[in-house]
This record gives sequence, C-alpha cells and structure tokens, in this order.
Amino acid sequence: MIFNQAKINAFRLWGLLLTMLGMGLMVLGTAGIVFWGHAGKVFAAIGLVIGLISMMGSLGIYFWAGMLSTSALQLECPECHKLTKMLGKTDRCMFCRTILTLDPNQANTTPEELHAQQGQGAQATPHHH
Ligand SMILES: [Zn+2]
Repeated sequence: MIFNQAKINAFRLWGLLLTMLGMGLMVLGTAGIVFWGHAGKVFAAIGLVIGLISMMGSLGIYFWAGMLSTSALQLECPECHKLTKMLGKTDRCMFCRTILTLDPNQANTTPEELHAQQGQGAQATPHHH
C-alpha cells in the first residue's frame, strides 16, 4: 500500500512514520530513566540520540517533499477529474492512484504492461514493439 501511493504522498507518509518512530524512541528513553533508574540512563541517552536523528531526518523529508511539491506539475486527473500533482515523468494520482505519465512512449501502455515492465526490475530497459 505504501508503494502504491503518489510520490508526494509517499514522502509525507515516510516523514510521518519517522516522526512517530523518533517520538516513540524519545518517550521510551525517558521512560527508561523512570523504570530502570541509573542503568536506564544509558538506554535513555541512546534512545534520545536516535530519536533526535530520526526526527531531524523526518523534518528533512518533510522539507524536501514541500520543495518538491512546489516544483511538481499540477494537472487534472483524467480519471477522477481532481487537481493532482505529479513528480517526474510517471507518477500516480494522489486521489484515485491512476498511473499518469508524460512519456509519450508509455502513454498508451496499459497498467498491466507497465506493471510487467516494472516487474522486470530494470530501471531503463529499452523496449521495442
Ligand atoms: Zn485521479
């Protein structure tokens, strides 16, 4: 489900997950002091450091997603007719997850064919018809 999202939505999702992870670690670290006393301080320190790094990372992802979304191409989705944003040449609609593309070579490809291409794992396989 995570990989079926529009790219901007996926970035936001990962940012949110990292924030939750960071906050969880910081709470656990603080709880470590309460439950284990002196011995818990080591865990607390590790938890706080990792939590802080994770939260800073998620902030970076959020910032990056914000930058990307300002430069993203805005267009009306041909399927659900909502205004969506796409990144790169191929992306999914943010609302109905239809695959959208700017590449004329792939414009007439059915979702099944596109899936088969991606399934081969090659990033830039030249395809001939
Ligand atoms: Zn749509």
